[in-house]
Amino acid sequence: MTKKELSILLSKLKVFEKPVIKLEQYSTDPEIAGETLWFALMQGDVKDKVIADLGSGTGILGLGAILLGAKKAFLVDIDTKAIELGIGNKAFLEKETGLKLNAAFCAGDVNVFDEKVDVVIMNPPFGTKNEKIDTIFLFKAMNIADVIYSFHKASTKDYIDKLVKDNGFETTHYKEYDFPIKMSMPMHKKRIERIRVGLWRIKKVIK
Ligand code: SAH
Repeated sequence: MTKKELSILLSKLKVFEKPVIKLEQYSTDPEIAGETLWFALMQGDVKDKVIADLGSGTGILGLGAILLGAKKAFLVDIDTKAIELGIGNKAFLEKETGLKLNAAFCAGDVNVFDEKVDVVIMNPPFGTKNEKIDTIFLFKAMNIADVIYSFHKASTKDYIDKLVKDNGFETTHYKEYDFPIKMSMPMHKKRIERIRVGLWRIKKVIK
């Protein structure tokens, strides 16, 4: 599968119909998801790896990782509606590709998830509604994996870099995207809004 084919396939997945505002439910743009997963594949972080997608939403990152050869992915989300959409997306992809996707759906708070995995790939809530939530996700990721791909608001770069360093990890790669966010939420007037988002690849420092 090429990067382009991956993005096209991911663009056919169902996304949130009625996003829950307090859970910050925004689906990752398929183009950006495809690029991120491809980048992770090139780093040797996907093929035959066990992945966790924390705050998996409708499953674009975790399911995409399996399409690129991950051994298994855990998809963790607190919202059962999101999990249901993820299960539907898995079935759709299996039909579309003829592959059997090894996805384990876990409905519950990210704090309760406790499997050790090789790599976390996540686009968690950015913490606009709940200030500490991005930190909670990052701590959990550092607890269960040595390599992490995570999206955060670019404006929090210094804060994230410090948190990473203070916890025995290092930022090996960083890139920024203009995240298109479809707004079906009453407080936003424009249909598509763009926010500057950073993608971190962080790795545990081996002493
Ligand atoms: N990763 C998905 C969705 C991003 S939106 C994507 O890239 O498209 C963030 C997701 O985190 C939402 O689906 C929301 O339901 C979930 N979430 C928010 N708080 C959570 C918590 N405490 N534990 C687990 N999931 C949570």
